[in-house]
Amino acid sequence: MTAPAREALVLRVVDFGESDRIVHLLTPHAGRLAAIAKGARRSVRRFPGTLDVFHHLRVQIAERRRPGGLARLEQARLVGWFPGLRSDATRFALGCFVLELLDRLAPENAHPQDARRLFRFAREALALVERAPADARLRVLLELVALDALGLRPELDDCVRCGGGPPAGFLVAEGGVVCGTCAQRVAGGLLPVRPGTLRALSGALRLPLARLDRLVLAGPLLAEARELVARLARFHIGLELRSDGFLDEILDGPAAGAA
Ligand SMILES: [Zn+2]
Repeated sequence: MTAPAREALVLRVVDFGESDRIVHLLTPHAGRLAAIAKGARRSVRRFPGTLDVFHHLRVQIAERRRPGGLARLEQARLVGWFPGLRSDATRFALGCFVLELLDRLAPENAHPQDARRLFRFAREALALVERAPADARLRVLLELVALDALGLRPELDDCVRCGGGPPAGFLVAEGGVVCGTCAQRVAGGLLPVRPGTLRALSGALRLPLARLDRLVLAGPLLAEARELVARLARFHIGLELRSDGFLDEILDGPAAGAA
């Protein structure tokens, strides 16, 4: 039985054994999926120049036979590859950052509707990284909208405890802001945030992804936004992303002085 051709975006590729590769994919039919490409390191015939990060593919995948087993990548054909991410180190690092977030947090066996939405997000985010100014601001905004796309949208407007306002700070563990009254009952971990920072981040969540780069976020507001979003991401991912340190180095400058 021939598997149907599907779309997929390559998130990560790992060499396996003598001649195989394990490919981590984001698909619009099932979300995240790992598949083994047998013989991919020896033969380029079945996978000609296809198994690389950022590649948008048409693939044939034989579903895994037992729970916990690996699906098998039978064939792959290149559809698109975001060339702008290959010609600039900062864009490449930002693109890797988006892929790593998806690789860590995207669900396996996702509902097709969720999987389609996430796949569209991934392609739009990479297209944005290809053309928008690649700076510390874009990194923060991308991380925020990626968390939102992954179902981890923070509450930035109304108190997560009572629904009131105005916000007195952000509680990472509760995923949102708390008002002054509720803040008095918070034992610790309240992150102070300026209203302007919350307005900017809240605005970013309402903008279409393609227009995210129009949002103004600079100086101390950017530093606060960076801290808030980084702590939120860290809380959900549980570890530091490999691309985080690399991005810090590349983007380190007056605009990125949040650390
Ligand atoms: Zn409250």
